[in-house]
Amino acid sequence: MSAVDQLQHDVLVIGGGGAGLRAAIAVAQEHPDLSIGIVSKVYPMRSHTVAAEGGMAAVIKDNDSAEDHIYDTISGSDWLADQDAVEMFVEEAPRELIQLEHWGCPWSREATGHVAVRPFGGMKLQRTWFATDKTGFHVLHSLFQTCLQFPSITRYDEWFATKLLVDDGRCQGCTAIELRTGQLRPIYAKSVIIATGGFGRIFPFTTNGAIKTGDGLAIAYRAGVALKDMEFVQYHPTGLPGTGILITEASRGEGGVLRNNKGERYLADYDLGEPLPLDDPRHPQLRTMELGPRDRLSQAFIKEQEKGNTYSGPYGDYVHLDIQHLGEHRIDTKLPFVRELARNYGGIDPVTESIPVRPVVHYMMGGIDTDIEAATSLPGLYAAGECACVSINGANRLGSNSLTELVVFGARAGRNAANFAHAADPAAIDRLESQVDDERARIRRILEQPSGGERVAELRRDMTTTMEEGAGIYRTQEGIEQTYATLSDLRERFGSVDLDDRTNVYNTDLISALELDYMLEISLALAASARDRTESRGSHQRTDHPDRDDDHFLKHSLAMRGDDGTPEVSFRDVVITKWPPGSRTYGSSDQAKAATTES
Ligand SMILES: Cc1cc2nc3c(=O)[nH]c(=O)nc-3n(C[C@H](O)[C@H](O)[C@H](O)COP(=O)(O)OP(=O)(O)OC[C@H]3O[C@@H](n4cnc5c(N)ncnc54)[C@H](O)[C@@H]3O)c2cc1C
Repeated sequence: MSAVDQLQHDVLVIGGGGAGLRAAIAVAQEHPDLSIGIVSKVYPMRSHTVAAEGGMAAVIKDNDSAEDHIYDTISGSDWLADQDAVEMFVEEAPRELIQLEHWGCPWSREATGHVAVRPFGGMKLQRTWFATDKTGFHVLHSLFQTCLQFPSITRYDEWFATKLLVDDGRCQGCTAIELRTGQLRPIYAKSVIIATGGFGRIFPFTTNGAIKTGDGLAIAYRAGVALKDMEFVQYHPTGLPGTGILITEASRGEGGVLRNNKGERYLADYDLGEPLPLDDPRHPQLRTMELGPRDRLSQAFIKEQEKGNTYSGPYGDYVHLDIQHLGEHRIDTKLPFVRELARNYGGIDPVTESIPVRPVVHYMMGGIDTDIEAATSLPGLYAAGECACVSINGANRLGSNSLTELVVFGARAGRNAANFAHAADPAAIDRLESQVDDERARIRRILEQPSGGERVAELRRDMTTTMEEGAGIYRTQEGIEQTYATLSDLRERFGSVDLDDRTNVYNTDLISALELDYMLEISLALAASARDRTESRGSHQRTDHPDRDDDHFLKHSLAMRGDDGTPEVSFRDVVITKWPPGSRTYGSSDQAKAATTES
């Protein structure tokens, strides 16, 4: 192929979700002369960001302060967040959300015309901006239409990135399969930003879209970058049984309550504050139990299950989320999507019935290790969004901080990757050719596997089952070791995976196999990190080590891929600036504080 036919850009963004699009805009604005490529395995508007419902946190009201948002985030993280990163994040957040409005995001408003905010779990004050309960849709749309303004941006929609190209100690592009033709092509660049989203699909029951398979983490990991804090998996307390479809936390933010099979607001037993009567005018403005952090609420469900206080259904046990007292008008104006989802996927109308819910894997705190500038340890490689771990989320992310993270760190990654590319030499195409050939050979091997081998669907089912068994809400050494052993075995079996479809055009069978390969890789890193963190913190609960152990584990875990392909875990100190580790209280003293500051 002649040099003219080569696909080449200054900056390549892998991922067309909120983080990827925000990054691309930042590159275009920072250096308008740079050429930008965006590779996305789905059309960008189908990225998972579109599914976000509840909202986006940033300080905007007079009764709120950066200090409060920082503290909530740090205590919510169980002190595992890097405090310098959180400070910067909170500082930059309002500017980014106002910028989104200028790009067309229709924030919901108060009667006065001011931006409206709603309460969200673990936040002491109301600071979550929202666009009804379709926030992600509007945010992604605003970013997407803004991207269209820049002629310097070229999109590769429905291209699947498979591997990073690395030479001379820096990242110089990736290989990607054009799904329409099945052709694997190199796309060269001076710098690369990975923004491929999360990986909830390694678990059987998740709110995550089918595309969330962690490909970006796996390709960075294979290129020698560490995966950080992988053991921290967020369960959201309110998913619909069966489908795992999310019933947004905004339903509790608006005043919804959780009840067990005795009709009790059972969270009163879990040190999350006192239940306010539903007719108390301060409900739900005062942060009550239902607006505790997600890890605590999900753990309380398991305890209720053990006590026999949950309902049983064809899709497992569940409790009730009751929003009936909000009334039809409020539900239709503030939570229309919740009503639509409950009707279509739960067969019930929340105006007159309670919604059955149970914890469901929702978000991954861990990801590609980056610094506060969104840079990885590999020069020229940046990461932002759910695939990255800066870390501002630590051991438990607060709801509505993630969408904000996409734009704050997406923009940072874009600016920094732009500056790197501006000063860098072009990719050394000649020297990278053999890596491209190796990747073609790897994919050909999968396509040409003799029939009669392992089935993708079966391996995938076994993987998700063992993840739930050993790395779910509560974990033990024995359980995690068993999961690790099962995953190692599955990886061996993947070597003889056998496809039904061996053609080139839109070969989804092949893509599922590649995704499975990546999921097995990062699941092993997750299991190894969970095995080695012998304490309980945030979403990582070890029944054999029930206490938080700051003496040994006020540290991030870092999983590096060893020479034999297995993860090697080490630890790095958390950055503490002003907030020494304390206990996470969500009880009455917090409510008293909120009562004096809430409008
Ligand atoms: C149902 C739901 C509701 C949520 N609600 C909220 C909320 O209200 N507030 C909040 O703060 N957070 C919320 N979250 C979390 C938040 O939405 C996500 O963390 C965030 O949207 C992730 O954005 P992202 O840009 O990192 O990745 P995504 O939006 O997932 O985009 C990933 C992109 O990477 C591309 N990609 C992946 N692999 C490849 C590959 N191999 N090759 C090429 N391209 C690839 C995909 O095509 C896609 O474009 C919610 C999450 C879910 C699942």
